[in-house]
Amino acid sequence: MSDCIFCKIVEGQLPCNSVYEDDEVLAFHDIRPFARVHFLIIPKAHIATLADAEPAQERLLGKMLLLAPRLAKEQGLEAGFKTLVNTGRGGGQEVFHLHMHVFGGGDPVRPV
Ligand code: 5GP
Ligand code: ZN
Repeated sequence: MSDCIFCKIVEGQLPCNSVYEDDEVLAFHDIRPFARVHFLIIPKAHIATLADAEPAQERLLGKMLLLAPRLAKEQGLEAGFKTLVNTGRGGGQEVFHLHMHVFGGGDPVRPV
């Protein structure tokens, strides 16, 4: 997807402050963090929204979920964190490349 900013980050055409990378997944700090720690976990493959994910991507989605606690701990969120996947315009999604927000480090009820 040539016009997708997260694909450009995956391809190295745009910079990011990465926290994890493997052949299928990339995680990087959000450019406008809304908590002390706020990063995004994305698949390297372009999947526009969670609603576009397919059964064949079940393992990839599970991998993203299982990475969240591991990376959150590495980023200093030992006490816990929040996850968020905005899906579609009605869900407030702004970047149409699937991503999971992982954030925390402030007030546990209202970390924003
Ligand atoms: P959404 O509303 O789509 O769930 O969230 C998109 C997130 O991507 C926002 O929190 C926004 O700050 C972040 N974001 C948008 N563009 C960039 C970028 O170029 N680099 C990084 N690191 N984050 C971005
Ligand atoms: Zn993309």
